[in-house]
Parts: sequence; structure tokens; C-alpha cells
Amino acid sequence: MAFFVMAVITSFKRAVMIKRRVDRMIPSIETSDGAGVKLRRSIGSSHFLRLDPFLMLDEFYSDDPNDYLAGFPSHPHRGFETVTYMIDGFMRHVDSMGNSGVIGPGDVQWMSAGRGVIHSEMPEQTEGRMRGFQLWINLPAAAKMKPPTYQDIPKDSIPEFSEATGLRVRIIAGRFEYDGRVIPGPINALSADPYFLDVYLPAGHSVSVALPLTHNSCVYVYEGEAMIGDETTLLVHRAAAILTEGDTVDIMASKNGARFLLLAGRPLNEPIVQHGPFVMTTREEIEEAISDYQCGRLTDSAKV
Ligand code: MN
Repeated sequence: MAFFVMAVITSFKRAVMIKRRVDRMIPSIETSDGAGVKLRRSIGSSHFLRLDPFLMLDEFYSDDPNDYLAGFPSHPHRGFETVTYMIDGFMRHVDSMGNSGVIGPGDVQWMSAGRGVIHSEMPEQTEGRMRGFQLWINLPAAAKMKPPTYQDIPKDSIPEFSEATGLRVRIIAGRFEYDGRVIPGPINALSADPYFLDVYLPAGHSVSVALPLTHNSCVYVYEGEAMIGDETTLLVHRAAAILTEGDTVDIMASKNGARFLLLAGRPLNEPIVQHGPFVMTTREEIEEAISDYQCGRLTDSAKV
């Protein structure tokens, strides 16, 4: 009997879809970081504008080398993950773990700083367009002091779902479900179970994406125009549209089509104390990070 009741409840749950809608917007503001790279920051533009577990979302997009040439010379991180997704242009990274490489259009660099990484992120071009995103994902307290890890994910190893209509979904992390098929991204087994999808929707088309009920989520339109569900208001361009709770989100493109990121992650619900590139749970841990960095103890090797 108990089994029967459970089965009924399970199928009932599956049958009812809770559609996510727009809860609030975090517009992007123009700022600069590194040695003077111009970018737009939405999530994380203030400490009050985060979306647990996401700490920051930066979009960099310029055809003017003066906006990006200075790059991000040697700097530290502790306590979270950084994800760099290139749309156009090339960036070279060098880090204290001994990794070095260039990421280009469609490539991803996924770094878990753990207890400490010192790295540099510098443009590998002197002209042309530089365009992409950097997302910071918090780590739970229990994982903040783990050894750092690093993954370069070339374009070709990122699954892309496409349809005859022109719909394209690149699955960088998380899963994309379509017609009973589940396509997982190459990044797995992270504490926040993050979803990082890059979607192109042709004019007038829509897509329905399943997301775990437990996750916070947002949509960031970076080209064209889109709407959520049956809402008639267009999402603000280059802004993070934070979604309400639910297990599905329907996104529709306007007559111009749309390109957007769909991000989701399980909230950590832990205190956040941030000092620039150090994100911990207490002030004491931040002081420790600063003194470790100053004394050359942040990483195994001293410098990049
Ligand atoms: Mn960095």
C-alpha cells in the first residue's frame, strides 16, 4: 500500500509542472577589472546582488583593443570557482598549478580555486573582437580549502543539441532534457550541481528547459530579444533575469531571435564574506587568506 501511494505521488509530481517566471532583474553595469578591462557586471555588481551559489557574472564584449589589452595580470583566488566562456577572441591563462593554455571561441576554462590559485588571464590578440563571460560559483565551506583543480574544455567536447528549427543548446554544465533524452554537460560532480547552458533560439521559437526544483536560476540575454513563459515583456538586454522557483522554464524568442545563457545552481545557504578575490564564510578566514597571500602561502608555488 505504502509503495502504491508513493508511486501515485511520484507520478503526480511529475505530471504537474511548476513554471518558472521572472522574479527580479539584476541589470548589468559598466565597470572595469583586472588591469583595466572594460566589462559589464550583473550578478555581483554589489554584495547585495548575488544569486546563491553564483557570486558574480561578468560579460566582456569589445571591438576596441584598448578595452581589453591590459588583461588580468597575476592575481589570487580562494574559496570559489571561476568559469570563463569565450564567444569571440583568445585568452591565455597561466596558473600556479603549472597549467598554461589559450582558450578561444566556444572554449571553456573551469577552475576550482579551492584553498588557493594565483593566475593570469591575458588577451592572446592585439586586435579584433573579445567577447565572453566569467562566472564565479561559490564553494561550500567544507570544500573551500581543498586543493585547486582546473579543466580546459575545448569547444568540440561540449555537447550541442540542435533542431531543424535552428534551436541550438550548448550544454557546458548540467543537463538538457529533450523528448525523453537527457544530454549531460562535461562538468559534473560539483557541490552546487551547476547548470550552464548557452542557447540560440531562432525568431519566434521557444524552448522548454527542465531544472531541478532545488536550484536558483537566471537567464541572461546577450543578443536579440526573449520572453519568459507567456509573459509579454521582453527581458532586459544584458541583464540577469532571476527566475522564481519551479521545475521548468519556457523561453520564447521575439522576431529577432535570441542568444542567452541559462544558469542554475543549488544554493549553499551559507554565510558569505568576500574580500575581492577571496570568498570565505568568516572574517577570520578572510584575514587568513590575505596573510597567506602576502606571505606566499596561498598556493604551493609562489608566483606566476
Ligand atoms: Mn582570475
